[in-house]
Amino acid sequence: MRIPFIAGNWKMHKTPEESIKLAKEIDNFLQENQEIDVDVLICPPYTSLYLLNKELKDRKVLLGAQNMSYEDEGAYTGEISPLMLKDMDIEYVILGHSERRQFFSENDEIINKKIKKAIEHNLKPILCVGETLEERESGKDKEKVKNQIIADLENIDKEKAADITIAYEPIWAIGTGKTASSDDANDMIKYIRSILKELYDEETSETMRIQYGGSVKPHNIKELMNKSDIDGALVGGASLKSEDFNKIIDF
Ligand code: PEP
Repeated sequence: MRIPFIAGNWKMHKTPEESIKLAKEIDNFLQENQEIDVDVLICPPYTSLYLLNKELKDRKVLLGAQNMSYEDEGAYTGEISPLMLKDMDIEYVILGHSERRQFFSENDEIINKKIKKAIEHNLKPILCVGETLEERESGKDKEKVKNQIIADLENIDKEKAADITIAYEPIWAIGTGKTASSDDANDMIKYIRSILKELYDEETSETMRIQYGGSVKPHNIKELMNKSDIDGALVGGASLKSEDFNKIIDF
C-alpha cells in the first residue's frame, strides 16, 4: 500500500520569517488532524531550512530541498552539498525539476549523478520528469518521459529505487493554470509504472510513489487522487498559502 504523498515546492519564495509562519500553519494543521494519513513535505529555499528544522520541534511535516550538488564538498561556488542537507535533518530533495533543466541547463547526466549522490547519503529524491507542449502535441510525450526515466535512473539498483519518488510534471501545466486531465495524468503515470516494471520488477514498480504536478489546486486534487495510479502531488503555487495547501493535504 502506497501512502499518499503531497509535496510543496516553494521555489524562490519566502524569507526565513515567512517560512516559519507558513511551515507552522501547515504543521499545526497536521498535528490537529492526526487522522490525515498522508506524507506531507515542504521544500522551502535553502535559507530557511536550518531555521525550520530548529523551530519545528517534533514536526509531522517533512523537510526537503529543491536541489543539491552532486559533489560532497569543494570549490563549487553557490552550491549546496548533500552532507549539508543531512546535517540539517533534511529527508528529501527534488531533483531534475523542469526549471532546473530549462534555466540552469541540467541534463539527464547531471541529474543521474545527483540522484546517485542523494541515495549515497540517504536522501530521498523526488525525480521530476515531463514533456513540453510541443512534444505532447506531436505524440512524443511518452517517448520523452521514458527517455528521461531511463537516463536519470541509470545504474541505480532496485533496492535504492524503492526510495525514489517520481513526479510527472508536464511542463506546459507548471504555473500556467492548465492541468492535465486526471485521465491523461493517470495514463502517463501508469505508463511510468510500466517503465519501472521493465527497469526493475513488478514489486519495485508497485512500491515506488508517483506524483502528478502541474497547477494542482484545492479544486482539482480530489479528482486526481481518486485515480488508480496517482499517489500524490508536487504543488508549486498553491503550496505558498496554508489555506490552499492544507485543503490539498486534506483532499
Ligand atoms: C512545480 O513547480 O513543480 C509545480 C507543479 O508548480 P505549479 O503547481 O505552480 O504548477
